[in-house]
Amino acid sequence: MKQTKNMNPGHQEIVMSGIRPTGFLHIGNYFGALKNYIKMQDEYECFFMIADLHSLTTHPDTKDLKPNVHRVVSEHIACGLDPEKVALYCQSHVPQTAELYLYLNMLAYKGELEKTPTFKDKVRLQPENVNAGLLTYPVLQAADIILHRAVAVPVGKDQEQHLEMARNFVKRFNHRYGEVFPEPQAFNFANALVKVPSLDGKGKMSKSENQLATIYLSDDDDLIRKKIKKAKTDSGPTEQNAPKPDYIENIFNLMKLVSSEEVVANFESAYRDCTIRYGDLKKQLGEDMVQFVRPIREKAEAIRQDEKYLKEVLAMGAEKAVKSAAATMKIVREVMGLNYFPEK
Ligand code: ADP
Repeated sequence: MKQTKNMNPGHQEIVMSGIRPTGFLHIGNYFGALKNYIKMQDEYECFFMIADLHSLTTHPDTKDLKPNVHRVVSEHIACGLDPEKVALYCQSHVPQTAELYLYLNMLAYKGELEKTPTFKDKVRLQPENVNAGLLTYPVLQAADIILHRAVAVPVGKDQEQHLEMARNFVKRFNHRYGEVFPEPQAFNFANALVKVPSLDGKGKMSKSENQLATIYLSDDDDLIRKKIKKAKTDSGPTEQNAPKPDYIENIFNLMKLVSSEEVVANFESAYRDCTIRYGDLKKQLGEDMVQFVRPIREKAEAIRQDEKYLKEVLAMGAEKAVKSAAATMKIVREVMGLNYFPEK
């Protein structure tokens, strides 16, 4: 994204984003979101959230929630996030979220929510549980973001439309009650938002779908090699400078994330002159991916063992997030006229 306008002159710009604790983090979460979090933590005031309430829309069983939250927090820190510099917190620890979500729900329309592609996808995936939380997922997400009056939201490409909806809710709120919220924009340092493709060539890597086609930050070396070896290829190009089929383009795109420019250039040139061997391409990608994931996996595993530390991190994050949320909600109640007590 283009850099955002500073809504808070004299202060750092505010950044907010969240990841659901619905499973193991994968390289899509890393390159779509976490990589930007880490680059932003020194320059911006950052709020990074573990979206446990959002996860209830698809994973109502809370039995595994606590270990999942702890693991995801460990993975954030292992990727380089410093909980002293940012607010790293759990959504359910900030009760103001539910209040703002309620107000925004009155400004969100059934028609627009039903049209959202992510809602339609979820209806297809879980027809037996089309709950109202699923429908109003983008409203809760907007509440999370604007609760801190954030302007920049580091997310992957799959979230583009949700951000547009958040801007619409903001415009409606500001129009009706007064200018309280800046309009949040999706953010990526690389200018374009990132979509890390699934290894089976169908859609994006994801925590809960097609797990054999997703590389997790917790995958061991052999599993990474095995998954990449299974990625779809064909017998190779037969004409010089032929366009790449999607599934081959995907392999090159993954390689651009973890391999050196020189390695990518060599395989690009071999593709162009039809001398490429896909076995070699996947072997190289497998090794480079192993080198990328291994240190994160090992560090996350060590952090995860230290439950006392994780609880301290979450308490510290909750304190920072609640302070910011309470300040916003005071203004919200005032502009909405929800203040019936006599002036002191
Ligand atoms: P998931 O779809 O794996 O459950 P979430 O919905 O929790 O992930 O998204 C967390 C963050 O990771 C969001 O910013 C989202 O845009 C990003 N993200 C998820 N999958 C990908 C992907 N394959 N490529 C790029 N970014 C992704």
